[in-house]
Parts: sequence; C-alpha cells; structure tokens
Amino acid sequence: MFLADLVHPADWERTLAVLRAVAADGRARRCVHRPATSDGSTHWCRTSIRGIRNGSGRVQELTGVTQPMRGLLLPREALQQRESALRRMLAQVPVFLYLTDRELRFIATAGSELAGPGVELEGRLLHDVLGAGEESSLALSAHGRALRGEPARYDTLWSHRTLEVRVEPAFDEEGRCVGTIGFAVDVTGQRREEESLRTSAERLRTLLETTSDAIYLKDGEGRWLEANDAGLQLFRLPRSEYQGLTDLELSRLDDFFRDALIACYQSDQRTWAAGGPTRQEEIIPQPGGGSRIVDVAKVPLFYPNGQRKGLVVLGRDITRRRLAEEERDRLLHQEKEARAAAEEARRRSEFLSSASRMLADSLDYGATLATVARLGLPFLGEWCAVDLTGEDQRIVRVASVHVEPSKEPLARRLKECVPDLEAPGGIAEVIRTRNPRVLTAHPGEEGGLPLCDHGGSHLDAVREMGLRSVLSVPLVARGRTMGALTFISVVPDRYKDEDVMLAGDLAWRAALALDNARLYRESQEAILARDEFLSIASHELRTPITALRLGIQRLFRLARGGVEPAWKTVAASLEGVERQGRRLTLLIDSLLDVSRLQSHHIQLEMEEMDLSELVRDVVAQLGGVLARTHTPLSLRADTPVVGRWDRFRLEQVVTNLLDNAIKYGAAAPIVVTVALEEGSAVLTLRDQGIGIAPERLPFIFGRFERAVSSRNYGGLGLGLYIVRQIVEMHGGTIHVDSSPGEGSTFTVRLPRLPSSVKEDGVEP
Ligand code: ADP
Repeated sequence: MFLADLVHPADWERTLAVLRAVAADGRARRCVHRPATSDGSTHWCRTSIRGIRNGSGRVQELTGVTQPMRGLLLPREALQQRESALRRMLAQVPVFLYLTDRELRFIATAGSELAGPGVELEGRLLHDVLGAGEESSLALSAHGRALRGEPARYDTLWSHRTLEVRVEPAFDEEGRCVGTIGFAVDVTGQRREEESLRTSAERLRTLLETTSDAIYLKDGEGRWLEANDAGLQLFRLPRSEYQGLTDLELSRLDDFFRDALIACYQSDQRTWAAGGPTRQEEIIPQPGGGSRIVDVAKVPLFYPNGQRKGLVVLGRDITRRRLAEEERDRLLHQEKEARAAAEEARRRSEFLSSASRMLADSLDYGATLATVARLGLPFLGEWCAVDLTGEDQRIVRVASVHVEPSKEPLARRLKECVPDLEAPGGIAEVIRTRNPRVLTAHPGEEGGLPLCDHGGSHLDAVREMGLRSVLSVPLVARGRTMGALTFISVVPDRYKDEDVMLAGDLAWRAALALDNARLYRESQEAILARDEFLSIASHELRTPITALRLGIQRLFRLARGGVEPAWKTVAASLEGVERQGRRLTLLIDSLLDVSRLQSHHIQLEMEEMDLSELVRDVVAQLGGVLARTHTPLSLRADTPVVGRWDRFRLEQVVTNLLDNAIKYGAAAPIVVTVALEEGSAVLTLRDQGIGIAPERLPFIFGRFERAVSSRNYGGLGLGLYIVRQIVEMHGGTIHVDSSPGEGSTFTVRLPRLPSSVKEDGVEP
C-alpha cells in the first residue's frame, strides 16, 4: 500500500516534506495527518517514518508505521472550558501570547496583563497600538521578518518594563503563513541583573586596565585566563597569545623570559602548597638590560571539595621604590659614615692635641721618652715600644710599656726583644725605609712579629702575651730617622689605614718632642761644657801668664839691682819668658784653630815633603821638654817618607800627639815610628803611660773632650780634635789603641797624594 493512500489529500504535501527530510538525513521523524478516508474533521493518525541505510551508509528505503490517534475532537463547550482554563493558567505566568494576521492585526491575546490592565488589543493593528517611534519600527521589522518565515527576537520597553518579544510565523493547516505568533516575556529584572553584571564586568576590566599593577588570573591547572596590560607588558606578551597557556608553556615561547616564567611556576606551586595567600618578591629581567623587582601577592582559590579553582596573582612593580630605598639607605649609610668619620676625626684631633700638650710639658729627654711610650695607649693598642737607633747604628729599646701597670713585668720581657737593624722586615725595616708597617700574626705564626729575636726565645713570651697585631711607624724629626714607635695589640687585624695615619701623626709629634728634648739636653751640655771650658781655658791661660809675669818681675829685679846681673841668670829667665810666651801662643792658636776648623776656614798649603824629617825636627824641638820630664824617646824615622802635605799642619799633628805622649806618658819610654805601608805614610806614637778608659775612647777626638781630670792634667781638650781634623783634611785616618795603666798607641795614616783633598782647602 502506498502511503498516499493512507493520507488525506489536504495533508499530503506536509507529509511528503517529512518523507523527503528523512530520506535526506536518515533521521527518524513523525508526522500527524488525517486518514485518507476521513471526512476531514475529526480523526487523526500519526505516522513514524525511519530510513534504512545500505552498506555504504546511504538511505536506501523508508519504512513507516501509521497509527490512529486516540479520541475525537472535543465538543464546543468542552473546548471553551479548556481554553479558559488555559488562559487562567497563562495569566499566572509572566508571559503574554498573541496572534496576528498578515496585516499584523491582533487576532487573539492571552497570558498576563503585560500589555497593561484594561488594554483591549484584539482587532487593533500593531502599529496603531505602538504608535510612531523607534520601539515601533523595531517591532514592525521583527514582525515583518516573521511574516517572511524567519523567527525574530527583540527587546522593547512597554509600560516601564522590558519585554523580550519572540515572534514566529503562524501557519495554517496547509502550511501557509497566515500571520505571526508572539510571546512577550517580562525580562525587566533579568535585564537589570544582566546590565549590572555587565557593568561590574566592565568596571572590573577598567580596573584591571587602569591599575599599574600586574594582574593575572589563572585556573586550577595554572592556565592563564586573564591578564591586564601591565601583566602582559612585564613578560612582553601580546594580548592574543597567552590565554589558556600555563607558565611552562609560555616559557617555551620566549627564551628571554624562560627562567622568569619557570620561577613563576615554582612560586605558584609554593602558594598551592601553602594553601593560602603568599607574598614574595620576584625579579624579572627585562630586554635591553635591567630588571623589574615585583612585589607579588598570590591568592589560591579552592572549591568546597578542596580542588584547585584558580589563582589570583597581583604584582606591584617596586623597582623604583626599591631603587629609592637603596638610594636612601646608601645616603643614610653615607651620612652615618660621614658622621662617624667626623666623630673619629674629632676624637683623633682631641687625642693628638692632648698628646701634643703632654709632649710639650717637659723638655727633659727621659720624661719625654716615658710620655711618648704612654701616649698612644690604649687608643692605639695595649702595648707600646719605643726603639731608637744609637750612634753605632744599633737599635736600643728605650721603653716598653703596657696599658695596665700589672702587666709591666711582661712588658719588661718585651723590652729585651730588640730587633737587629739589619734584619729583614719588621721594625728594622720601618727604621731603614721610614715606611710604616702593619703586621698580623695568627696563632702559630708568632714568628712573623718583628718583636721576636727570631731565635725562638721570645716566641713563648709573644704567645703568652697573645700578641696578634703590630703597627710600627718611624720616628723622624728634622729629616733624621731616630727610630720607631711600635704599638702592639692582642686584637687580630687591629690596625686599619686610619690608625696608621694617626700613629704617623703621633710619631711625628713624638719625634719632634724627642728631638727638641735631645737638642735641649745637648745645648744644656754644651753650655756646661762651655762654662767648664772657660774655667779650664782661664786656668790654662793664667798658668803661662803667671809664669811669664814671674819671669818678667825677676828680670825687673835684676835690672833694678844696681849691679850687673849674671847674664846666665838673665838668659835662663828670658828662656822661661820665651817658653811661656810660646805656650800662650800655642794655646791661643789652638783656640783659633778650633773656630777656624769649625767654620772650614783652614786651607791646606800642600808641598812635597819628607814626613820622617818633619818628625825628627819636632822631636828635636821638644827635646827640652823630654829632658825636663825625664822621658826617654826612641825615634825610628830613618827612611824618607815623601808625600804632598801641609807642613805646618802636620807639625801641629806630631807636636800635639807627642805633647800628649809626654804629658800622659808617666815618664816611661816613648817610641815614635814613621814608615811606609801599602803606599801610605804611617806615623805611630806609642807610650806606656796612664792609658785611656775604654768608655772614654769614643770621645777623646771630640771638641773639649777629655778623659782625665783638669786637676791632675792641664789641657783644653782640643789637641786630639785638631789632630783628627787635620788628618782627615789630608784624606787620612787616626786610630788609638789604649788600655788604662798600659799606655796608648796612636796611629796616623796619610795618603801620599790624597785624592779627596784639594790643595787650597777641604772638599765641601
Ligand atoms: P788635652 O788638652 O786634655 O790633652 P787632647 O785633645 O789632646 O786634650 O786629649 C784629649 C784627652 O785624651 C786627654 O784629656 C786625655 O785624657 C786623653 N789622652 C790623649 N792622649 C793621651 C795619651 N797619650 N795617654 C793617655 N791619655 C791621653
């Protein structure tokens, strides 16, 4: 049987359309139609149609099952009852239903009173009801579209409410569009809510974009959902690229930010692990140099079941603030340092001025030394040693003190620990080079401290005292290095540059004070020596003058005696007068020579001469004295020893030496030798007299220096001074060997042609 035989012709077209649709896509469909035999009004059937596909999946056949629908159309009253029940029900829901014909005239309305109470619409045209205006043209165009078969939807304002209107075409039983069906729903509340949601979303976006903080929203898996411009800018990400990617995925996109993004991922993990908000600083390097320091707050969000929901990340760029803070800290630090330096400078200047006051207190050398040793304590250490170099170029530790008097016995041990001036490093080097030195010894390295004699005996003391740091500065005054001032501390690495400077300042003042005290002492000694010399000189001058006057008085007496005197007596007196006169002349010459020698006003007059002959002459001249004093003399000067010398000055040398040999020779035999040794003339005078005490030996060639008392032996203490000056002016040397009670041997060596001597004077 063909389906066309089952379907009422009026419903055939529609049924055929359903068949075609099933044939096209194979989906099962149903259609309702009247049976072919029906009278066209009351009985209806339902046919279910299914497509049957072949092996290749195409619809090959259609099968259908037609069933009569139960029941008949209801009688008119029943229908009216149903309609009014339906209307009541529709009136309960906020929906307004209406039907129009093709002219858009309201045919039927149902539902709530949305149109407004008492507004009668049925029979009226839509554009009459709406009037002119924008709302009206919107409604007309939607209805127009519905008439063309296209469902439409629009919102309209009606009686201060927002209605959402859906309009669809209305078909008659033949499927022709006969008008429109409209549903109007009151969506005022919904739209308001949507509007407020939209507004708050916009506000949120505005907020996101207007804040300079970087903001990121990530889901529970760490995928970026949203980031504002500031957040994207931090990683130079374009707006289109980031959404849906995780930090690790983003890190693969850009090598530059790779590490920074991995660090972000790791810090996210820490936040998740913490289970609550975290805060940390992250440093994001930036292309083109520099980095941004970001103060990052991360807030994890969880579902009620504890699953991760999302992560809110807020990053505030604190680079400027941090730089400002660093700058502020730096300035603060600088200011603090400047204040500390000013305070230190004040303390130092106070220290130095009080040190200067103390040093100025006394001109006594010993007292100044003691002051110097104590001055720097405890400001510059716990121990202080003062080392001075003597004439013999040896270091003498003149003071060694400790800040606590109870430790003085230890300080004494330190005093014995004197370095050798030739030793490398340490205090000796400070004195040699005039450069300050700082030394530090760690336990076990005590030998490195210059206080030790390096032989080990003082190492124990240094260890016991726990000495760790040494600062040694030179004592230099008026261009002369006097020694060194050394501070010692038990604190390791105690001395810094500023301590070296301070100690240097102190040493300069101390050296000056010591030098002043030395000069003062020397001038005092010089005044004493001068007074002593004056008294000796007056005594020495008075003796020949007295003898001279006595001789002259004797001659007067002889002349006034009225008798012719015995000429022998006169001659003896005259000889005495002459001798005393000569002695006076010699004394005065000596005095004059000393002042000339001092002012370099003596000029040598060189000539070729024989030293042996000169010595023989002098011995002959002093024959009278030798005889008077009963001093035997043996002279070995037979071979001529010729050279270029100043005859008069060499006579002075031989005379002074021979005078002394006679004076201090205790009448024991004297041996005088002149010889030639290695091209030099050598004059030796050996006596067996009183000799010279060893401690006086270094001084006897000095001015006014004597090794005997003026009560026992006359003399000005000038003879040997003049001798040495003359010998040295000739480029020669003088040397003495002597022992008390065993006599003395003076040896003079003279180059025969002195190279370092100019004939007209001394080399400057
Ligand atoms: P003076 O006028 O005292 O002799 P000198 O300068 O000649 O002065 O000698 C200095 C000192 O050296 C003397 O005072 C004396 O003590 C000592 N002296 C010099 N020559 C001898 C000597 N041959 N024997 C012992 N002492 C001597």
